[in-house]
Amino acid sequence: MQLLSDRILDMSTSATLAMAAKARELRGEGKDIIGLSLGEPDFSTPDFVKEAAIQAVNDGYNSYTPVDGYGELKDAIITKFKRDNNLAYKPSQIVVSTGAKQSLFNVAGVMLNDGDEVILPCPYWVSYADIVKLFGGVPVEVKTSIDTDFKMTAEQLEAAITPKTKMMWFSSPCNPSGSVYSKSELEALAAVLAKHPDVYVVSDEIYEHINYGEGHTSIAEIDGMYDRTITVNGVSKAFAMTGWRIGFIGAPEKVARACNKLQGQTTSGANCIAQRAVITALTEPPSRVQYMIDEFKERRDLILDLVNNIDGFKANTPDGAFYVFPDISHYFGKTLKGKQINNATDFSLYLLEEALVATVTGDAFGNPNCIRISYAASKEQIIEALKRIKAVVS
Ligand code: PMP
Ligand code: GLU
Repeated sequence: MQLLSDRILDMSTSATLAMAAKARELRGEGKDIIGLSLGEPDFSTPDFVKEAAIQAVNDGYNSYTPVDGYGELKDAIITKFKRDNNLAYKPSQIVVSTGAKQSLFNVAGVMLNDGDEVILPCPYWVSYADIVKLFGGVPVEVKTSIDTDFKMTAEQLEAAITPKTKMMWFSSPCNPSGSVYSKSELEALAAVLAKHPDVYVVSDEIYEHINYGEGHTSIAEIDGMYDRTITVNGVSKAFAMTGWRIGFIGAPEKVARACNKLQGQTTSGANCIAQRAVITALTEPPSRVQYMIDEFKERRDLILDLVNNIDGFKANTPDGAFYVFPDISHYFGKTLKGKQINNATDFSLYLLEEALVATVTGDAFGNPNCIRISYAASKEQIIEALKRIKAVVS
């Protein structure tokens, strides 16, 4: 009998984490790799958050927490949703999890039956398709291009909906394109969904605060959307807390209760010390982390300039998150330093081997013409990396 399940054999490895591991391995061999593959802030977690965690240890927090999160943390999340998103949730609608990734996993686990279709505007975050498939769902990719700033139009959404459509999953600001849906664009999508009352939306807002444009709108705020939206958020990005592993949802009560039940049979709840620290993180005004956003914006301007200066690279202007997603299909079919480039994966590997710069292939995000470059790195690293890339593609 086969050792591993079909379920795991059918799953792809997370391309972002795989590339980060490869970069780490090469660095271990003494190679001077610049890692621009992982979406991970290079800042330290702010001191006021660290202090709250230390306090929690000293105060003796060590027991299991309520499965769906401490009451005080849920209250802080409710206040945050009201303050930043104009969304009113009750404690029974909030579930705290081990990262937004687990929040997404829970939602798929409690809502999908075999054959349910999930619309994924491309490019989408690397794990969406595999999480959906794990629970029997069928990802339905909606292709977008740089011409619409990699955003799905209302017409495309309408055309993708079938009687089997259960949900639409998207992130805004988007990982990997950095695109941000405006209020009017979300209203146009909501107008389509109004005609299909059984279709739910998973709105991944983990980059909410990393926004350089006109600001953030939650789709749940749009008329008619609140009761059918699962709003996903977390602290990994804006608070530089990737390793603390706290994410959360605001959702219709039935969905939240089901996630609580699933989590009760899996993790039993998120880490207690991290939860205490996040109470402080979310209670403080977002202005406490503005210094990181300001720095990301400077890096965005810097990297965009450098990327647009390389022949054959064509990028949109990202309004949020910390990625550029240039179209590099110009190089397909060409030979660089004796290496044949047939697709984005070849190109990304070529950059790793020849420029010693780690990026991620667009294939992992449902867009085979692009690569993702993370600018959650110092300006010096960004300048050096793009200099090396330019040198090996010229
Ligand atoms: N959604 C998106 C769009 C992301 O980029 C990430 C990055 N890890 C996640 C969810 C998961 O975040 P977390 O660290 O909270 O699991
Ligand atoms: N979200 C980050 C990224 O896209 C972290 C890696 C991951 O969780 O897959 O690179």
